[in-house]
Amino acid sequence: MARYIFITGGVVSSLGKGLMAASLGALLQARGYKVRIRKFDPYLNVDPGTMSPYQHGEVYVTDDGAETDLDLGHYERFTGVSARQSDNVTSGRVYQQIIARERRGDYLGATVQVIPHVTDAIKEFALADQGDHDFILCEIGGTVGDIESLPFMEAIRQLRNELEPDQTLSVHVTLVPYIAAAGELKTKPTQHSVRELASLGIKPDVLLCRCEHPLPDSERRKIAQFCNVRQESVIPALDAPSIYSVPLQYHAEGLDSEVLRGFGITDAREPDLAAWHDIVDRYENPEGEVTIGVVGKYVGLPDAYKSLNEALVHGGLANRVKVNIRWIDAEVFEGDDAEIAARLEPLHGILVPGGFGERGSEGKIASVRFARERKVPFFGICLGMQMACIEGARSAGHASASSTEFGETTDPVVGIITEWMSEEGLQKREADGDLGGTMRLGAYDARLAGNSRVSHIYGGETRISERHRHRYEVNSAYREPLEQGGLIFSGMSPDGLLPEIVERPDHPWFVGVQFHPELKSKPFDPHPLFAGFVAAALDQSRLV
Ligand code: GLN
Repeated sequence: MARYIFITGGVVSSLGKGLMAASLGALLQARGYKVRIRKFDPYLNVDPGTMSPYQHGEVYVTDDGAETDLDLGHYERFTGVSARQSDNVTSGRVYQQIIARERRGDYLGATVQVIPHVTDAIKEFALADQGDHDFILCEIGGTVGDIESLPFMEAIRQLRNELEPDQTLSVHVTLVPYIAAAGELKTKPTQHSVRELASLGIKPDVLLCRCEHPLPDSERRKIAQFCNVRQESVIPALDAPSIYSVPLQYHAEGLDSEVLRGFGITDAREPDLAAWHDIVDRYENPEGEVTIGVVGKYVGLPDAYKSLNEALVHGGLANRVKVNIRWIDAEVFEGDDAEIAARLEPLHGILVPGGFGERGSEGKIASVRFARERKVPFFGICLGMQMACIEGARSAGHASASSTEFGETTDPVVGIITEWMSEEGLQKREADGDLGGTMRLGAYDARLAGNSRVSHIYGGETRISERHRHRYEVNSAYREPLEQGGLIFSGMSPDGLLPEIVERPDHPWFVGVQFHPELKSKPFDPHPLFAGFVAAALDQSRLV
């Protein structure tokens, strides 16, 4: 049976618990263990799919079509293990399941309560789908002391009792702030946070102390004494120069050895960290740089495009260059050609990412036009591909080309999709149905045209699988005029009905994809589309 590592956070939010879980997973994996990482989110949404990116950052989509927390992206990027629906659960999903059971009469007349019914359901999620994993890491969202997270803490407490004594471990992530006026690091918040956790019946085994200044041994000793843990288990976690150095840094501070010691494992092999050293070397010693503009809507919050940001960096790692990202609000372009030229001329590549709604769409279409006319490398993702097709149709004479997502149109180059084939068979949706969980979600195959730019980018593959999250689709009735205008449909769904990829052969690099390749890119395995796009931007940078 798998061993469980429960990761909680204290003092403040945003301590990087997700990255910590991903890094610990990567370190255990580097020692040859098989790991899975799960996220428990205490909020009441069934999943983050209906939340604004400004609320919650990006929605990360798994192969099996779950809309999940963006931390699952960190986990997958750091471990390479494909996340699944069963790796993310929210209070909303737990309650949805319990209430459905109650309505069916499954509780046989019992009063349905937080303890035991909610806690049992949480434990079920934690224990489900274990496979042959050596370690399952469970990160609990939020901060100890939140009302919402209490049932999760209680479920952990119970699991720690019910599983074998050496089968679970608690890692608590805290903050050791530096008070500049006093010139001192303060351990009191950590002490309080551990006390709070202990009052819920959970004694942490390992403390990861985030700090901006080095944590002297005297402070480690103090934390150990007050918090009832070994001094070696108080792991200092200084701010890292980049997220890629976090696994190496935590290893150097002894995190993985302390975790293994906590489980009583003494014969673990040393981790093979060559891949991480290579990533850090590429990241810290670039041989050039390119500047890419991302023309989108949620540009005020980097987390809204988390995977995209990462995938662009990975494209840089593949080419040994630094990628400078300019986040550009598409709305600034509407109807202002001078502004467009001023903002886009300095760029070596233009990317229009996924998005929803009409706002900013004309600005996105204008930046596609700029990229096409000026022969600047262009990458359109999901909504970005749809905008490339609308721009292509307009330039081919369909002046009123638009998407039905933006209102009624006489020229629906992009339209809502209500029927499509999936591995489970025909999927059907109502045009005005529920918004939650009803998009075309998860992994779908695409067939690539031989000799196309994309088949070359994918190393000669003719069939690929990529993750989707969209409700609208390019209307293949427009294929002929678009192809006559030079925009070729080089990737289609296996049944030949849905356009998956478009490209312009007469352009240095112009590719639009209906899926989200950024979700599958990893630092040690950059996605070929991002590697190719950054390579094209590098060529462009040598021209200007
Ligand atoms: N809004 C578009 C759709 O639903 C694109 C979605 C996206 O970019 N993820 O089809």
